Parts: sequence; C-alpha cells; structure tokens
Amino acid sequence: PNTLDKLRFDNTYSNLPSKFFSKLPPTPVNAPYLISYNPKVGELLDIDSSTVNTKEAAEYFSGNKLLPGSNPLAMLYSGHQFGYYVQQLGDGRAILLGQVRNHQDQLWDLHIKGGGPTPYSRGGDGRAVLRSTIREYLGSEAVHYLGIPTTRGLCITGTKDEVYRESIETGAMLIRVAQSHVRFGSFEVFFYRKQHENLKILADYVMNEHFKEIPKGNYAAFYSEVVKRTATMIAKWMSVGYENGVMNTDNMSILGLTIDYGPFGFVERYDPDWVVNHSDDMGRYALSNQPAIGEWNLKRLAIALSGIDQFNSTYTEELQDALLHYQPTYEEHYDMLMNKKLGLQEVKEGDQTLTKDLLKILSLNGGIDFTNFYRGLSNIDHSQPVNAENYIKTLTQDESHLQKLQEWMGKYTSRLSQQLSLTDENQTKELKERMLKVNPKFIPRAHVMQTAIVAAQQDDFSIVNTLLNLYQNPFDEHPGNEKYTKEAPRGFSNCLTCSS
Ligand code: AMP
Ligand code: MG
Ligand code: MG
Repeated sequence: PNTLDKLRFDNTYSNLPSKFFSKLPPTPVNAPYLISYNPKVGELLDIDSSTVNTKEAAEYFSGNKLLPGSNPLAMLYSGHQFGYYVQQLGDGRAILLGQVRNHQDQLWDLHIKGGGPTPYSRGGDGRAVLRSTIREYLGSEAVHYLGIPTTRGLCITGTKDEVYRESIETGAMLIRVAQSHVRFGSFEVFFYRKQHENLKILADYVMNEHFKEIPKGNYAAFYSEVVKRTATMIAKWMSVGYENGVMNTDNMSILGLTIDYGPFGFVERYDPDWVVNHSDDMGRYALSNQPAIGEWNLKRLAIALSGIDQFNSTYTEELQDALLHYQPTYEEHYDMLMNKKLGLQEVKEGDQTLTKDLLKILSLNGGIDFTNFYRGLSNIDHSQPVNAENYIKTLTQDESHLQKLQEWMGKYTSRLSQQLSLTDENQTKELKERMLKVNPKFIPRAHVMQTAIVAAQQDDFSIVNTLLNLYQNPFDEHPGNEKYTKEAPRGFSNCLTCSS
C-alpha cells in the first residue's frame, strides 16, 4: 500500500504530442478541507486509507499542492452538443493531475473537477459547486455498485471560496478517477481539424493501454468493441432507470464508462418521456431516447475514426458494419436484464411484451415508482397467491389502474410458473433472493441527495457519508434507512439545470 506522497505515477497521456492538451496546474483555493473520502476508490490507486491525513489530502486534492510525480494538464476535445458540432471544448474545469499505475498494472487517471480555469474554459470560471460535486460523487458510486461501468469519485474537498451560479454557492472539488477520460470528442477534434495523423496516434494510444486484446492497427475491431461496450452500458442504464441528461459526444467515454454527472437522474414515477435536464428543450436526451442517441453518437465516432484511413473503402465499410451490431447488442442485453429483474432466467418469446406492458402500466395515472416497484415485486412470497394480490393494492387507488396491474400480475405469475413451481417453498425463496440481488433498494434520488447537500452546505457531511454507504450496498436492507427509499414528494422538481 502507498501513502499519498508515494503514488506510482505513470503519466503516459502527457507523452502524447503537445497538441493533445495544455499543461497547467490547478489554481489554488483558500483553506481547503476534506469533505468525504472514499477508501474503495483509494484502493484502486493502492492508497492505504489508514495513512490518509485529512489536512494533507485536502491540500493535494484541492489542487493547492501537487502530488509528487503529478504532471497536470487539461485535455483537448470537441464534440457534438445537442446534435451540433462544437469546434473546441476540452477540460474547461477539469485537470488531469496525473495517471497512477497500480500493482495490477492498471492505469488510473486522477482528474480534479473544479480545479480552476484552463485554456478551454470558454469564459467559464473553471470551478464546481458543492451541490454538483456531491451529486457526482454519490451518483457515480451508485452507478458503479449497480454494476454499470462508470468514472468514480475518490474524494470531495471544499473551500470557503464563493462560486457564482444562479446564486452564490459553496465551491468544491471532486477527484474523479477512471481508467481513461478519452471521449468520442477526443477523436472528433482531430478529424474536423483534418489532423488525421493525430487520430491514429490517439487510437494507437488508447488501444495499446485499454484494448490489449485487439490486434494493433485493427481500428475497425477497436470501434466494434466500443459499439459493444456502449450498447451494453446503455442497456444497463435503462434497466435501472438512469438518465444521463447530457449525452453529447464529449460526454461519451471511449471505454464505455458512464461519464459526466451533471443533470443526471434516476426515474422515480415511471415516465419514458422524462427529461431530467431543463436545458434540453427538445427532449433529445429523454429517458427512452437514450438507446437511439447512443447509436447516433457512435455514428459520429465512426465518422471521426474513418479519418485514420480515409481512402480505404473496406475499412469504412467495416466501421459501418460494426455499427449495425449496436441495436441487436443493445436489445439482447436489455431483454436479459429486464427478465432478470422479473426473476426470469432466460428470455422467451413474449417476454419483451411482458416488460413493455409493465412499463406502460407503471407510467399510467401519474406513474408508479420504478425502483420501488421492482423491489416490492422481489419481496412477494409467491407461495401464497394472495400476497401478489395484496402487493398490487398498495400501488394505486385507481380502479382501472389496479385492474391492469392485476391482469399483468396474472400473466407474470403464469410465466414464472413455467420456470419454477410456485408452491415449492425452496424455489420461491430462491427466486426472491435472486431478485433482491438485481433490484436495488437504494438509488440516488435527487430529493434525497438534496438533503445531503443542504446539510453539507452547513458543514454537516454526515448524510453524504451515510448515503455513500447505502449506494455502495444498494441491494442490502439497511433497516432504519427507509426514508431514503421514498419517491420525491409531489411538486419536487426532478428537473435539473446544467449549471454546476
Ligand atoms: P458539460 O455539458 O458538463 O459536458 O460541459 C461542457 C463543456 O463546458 C466542457 O468542456 C466543460 O469543461 C465546460 N465547462 C462546464 N462548466 C464549466 C465551468 N464552470 N468553467 C469552465 N468550463 C466549464
Ligand atoms: Mg462534459
Ligand atoms: Mg458536466
């Protein structure tokens, strides 16, 4: 195990051509303090958390002091935002402090988010607010422990420096950790600048470090793997009701990680048309649009990667063919995940309709909470048919809604009984255990995180840490924490601003 001043840096990204980034250190802040530290992510970096001194950590992770071996830089990228190409984006408030090679030979980027302005800030202040930092820290850990690839959060540091958004807010910095922060937009920038040699350098770099199983120089195979990872990631999002909110191509990770927790959310009262991001007037990134947007974004990546070998028509065709696998890959994973939520171990004809009908019913009459519905379904003891009947009655007061739920439950239990005997106590017990492992009790609800944020703004970080623990063990019962499973009170706006 390492201490903070002995991290094993291996800054491979900084060895790329200088066009790829701008070297600069974070801008210091006043009186930084550690708000929350996540030992689970520390382990990825071989940090022995028992040696972490909070004062020292606050200095390093606020960017006030450079970790020995760090070589800070802001990464260049561009991207399609809301369908339109923006020539230059880049790390406007994030700085790659360096890359740590752990004892398993994995490379981990240490990114500070909110570390001050960079040449890519485009008029922004380069800072982050405590509110959005807590949301990202809790949201990304939740997504990870729901089994979805994502960036992680090592710690949050705060400062008394004020940050101006719609109002004055507390400033904070997040240390974001991921195996790479390269995005689709990192490739697009070199394609549209017609620097095709840099495209190749970037692809070689990423493949060499992160796609070791793919033969060197086989860029179509590399693309095909990104298609697969993106399709499976989005299938997983859909199976937990996660909405990213800003699926611009600069927020699409080349590793298929969930990245950039701005106005993200988890759907509560189910609504496929839900738009969490209030800047998204057209609803481009609505919940049920995410799979199609994933494909659209992958198309942008194919266009960019085509620049590596522009006049090779076989290569261009290979890229196009790879994208054809997106939809079937997505569907296969989605169907399997949705079936598992229902306790069904294989996908049979008609199962898609079972899920589709259910989601339709969950969306009626103001909506039924997506997460709680599946958790409740998991808890039914099917050996007594009356239990399913009673469960449904807790979900709605509306007669016709209730009737639809009853009909669905009838179809569901008959489908279940094709797989197991509902009168066999061992089998129903096993079913329940299996379902409770895939249907979480705890997800990061906006209104719940808001209570942690309000407390943190008054220097009480206890709720942040409580929620971190719940979200890191989302399938456990955690008696006494039921209040964190409640859906948002009616009238609570689950619609969030991009300003963070
Ligand atoms: P996002 O919509 O969060 O992906 O952000 C889009 C771009 O805006 C990225 O290049 C960010 O680095 C940049 N950005 C967001 N907030 C700020 C800020 N407060 N200061 C400077 N740049 C920012
Ligand atoms: Mg972004
Ligand atoms: Mg963002």
